[in-house]
Amino acid sequence: MKNTSPIILKGLPVSKGISIGMAHVIEHGNNVIEEKYIEKKLVSKEIKRLKTTFKKTLIELDIIKSKISPSIKKNIGLFLDTHILLVSDKIFLESIKSRITENLNSSEWAIHTEYLNIKESFENIEDLYIKQRIDDVNHVVKMLLNNLIIKKNKINIISKSFNNVIVVTDDLSPADVIITYESKGLGLISEYGGRSSHSSILTRSLELPSIVGVKSALKIIKNDDYLILDGDEGLIFINPEKDLVNHYQDLKKSFLKKKRVLSTVLNKRNISLDKEKLEIMANLELPQELKIISEKNIDGIGLFRTEYLYADRNDFPTENEQFFAYKQIVKKMKNNPVIFRTLDTGADKEIPDNVKTGSIAHNPALGLRGIRYSLGNQTVFINQVKAILRAGYYGTVKIMLPMITNFSEISDAKELINIAKKDLKNEKKKFSNNVKIGIMVEVPSCAVLANRFAKQVDFFSIGTNDLVQYTLAIDRVDDEVNYLYDPINSAVLNLIKIVIDAGAKNKIPVSLCGEMAGDSNYTRLLLGLGLKSFSMHPSAIPEIKNIMISSDISKLKKLSKELINCDCLIKKNKLLAKINNI
Ligand code: PEP
Ligand code: MG
Repeated sequence: MKNTSPIILKGLPVSKGISIGMAHVIEHGNNVIEEKYIEKKLVSKEIKRLKTTFKKTLIELDIIKSKISPSIKKNIGLFLDTHILLVSDKIFLESIKSRITENLNSSEWAIHTEYLNIKESFENIEDLYIKQRIDDVNHVVKMLLNNLIIKKNKINIISKSFNNVIVVTDDLSPADVIITYESKGLGLISEYGGRSSHSSILTRSLELPSIVGVKSALKIIKNDDYLILDGDEGLIFINPEKDLVNHYQDLKKSFLKKKRVLSTVLNKRNISLDKEKLEIMANLELPQELKIISEKNIDGIGLFRTEYLYADRNDFPTENEQFFAYKQIVKKMKNNPVIFRTLDTGADKEIPDNVKTGSIAHNPALGLRGIRYSLGNQTVFINQVKAILRAGYYGTVKIMLPMITNFSEISDAKELINIAKKDLKNEKKKFSNNVKIGIMVEVPSCAVLANRFAKQVDFFSIGTNDLVQYTLAIDRVDDEVNYLYDPINSAVLNLIKIVIDAGAKNKIPVSLCGEMAGDSNYTRLLLGLGLKSFSMHPSAIPEIKNIMISSDISKLKKLSKELINCDCLIKKNKLLAKINNI
């Protein structure tokens, strides 16, 4: 029965946007599985039941996969492949079967105890990514149990549709996200989950407003409750008052209107009121975003996060596979540069199953990630570099090294890049021999010595997501300390200024590609600090460009300098407001 009075819930916003509509509750079930045993004479019947369930689940997964639109199939399908692999895994099935034959477990109890067994072995794993793969096992187990319980022989997924509803669930599986997207659902709410789970990544790339970590959501939200999902703030209003619905409908309308109006700036030249030439580039995480990017009239791809090619597979992408993927993007960008960041695996990023990031990675953000991994796994790095250099033949590419903390990492990487070039020459493959090499400045050691690093590289890109994390000692994925995550902390701003000035002094381009670049609160401040090039999430481009072309940078410099030297929070916020209202 639906709730009668208004209720507000809070969770972790993982994908922005506002959705208003009816709730559709789906419970995968953390149902208590009964400890049940069967008679010996029923063993073969029970095994048959088990096998049918596995078959049914496999068909179900195949159907979900086949229903994915071609435009998102290539990458999104990878998430499902992990599940398909598990259901097809002979050892997994055999272990469950032997629990039935040897211990006379019911199929449900056999699956459950096998799951507990796997889960226990995962608990001792230090590697966070591999540890998180227990979620995949969990999703598959839930599907199997559901199919055991559903008596109908039909595959229920075929008729599953989340058209025009907000899906509320206990644990969001990638399949839930895909079905919601394909059936034009409005948004997603989940009791469990974190920002970097597969499902959350999918909600963002498919632009489905979503909130996870909403405790007791299933106990509180009922089917047909009317919901407002505020994916910016992580708020859910259940059966809100009419006034609040009107308010959010207005917000949504003005958001869409603003989006339309702002899109008119895209064709304008990107120069400030005082005639400074500025640059706007896009960050790209999935090739699907290319379509959105191509409408934005940008100056290039300022950060191509290449990790997607490595995620959710048991092997590494080959040089050729990467080359074809990169070439497609380079050609699409015509002569605008595409800055390929080499594999930045580890910490908050997806890690391929075969990548080991250290057995005692208690602090993975400080562990074997980014360039550290690449220098220790030279074949992986050289293959990627070869693919980038080959793609460079079809346009303009640059190579960007992540997580640089010292000078030798640069010289070592350059040596490997030279080996990649030699290999390509020997193999008589076409490639660009003239590719600029730059670094992400995202670790304080690099920012502090930016003036010296500038002499070793062709360009800088400031990664504020990590720079804030490392300067302020705040885990960027830990919501408990999120309140301390402050890009305008004076220490952070001073480092940004050092990097911008070092770039100017040494005549190398400096861009900023962290989330800060796409946050309209900070555009003018960054312009005032001398930043000329911004790379951001594509959807932020119109708003930021609008601010850029209506700014007089000469008037921002003095106030920006005052702000970075200000120690009083209240005064600082006042200064920021002043900067934004000039
Ligand atoms: C950053 O650290 O600011 C950045 C852009 O890289 P990522 O978010 O991929 O670590
Ligand atoms: Mg980073």
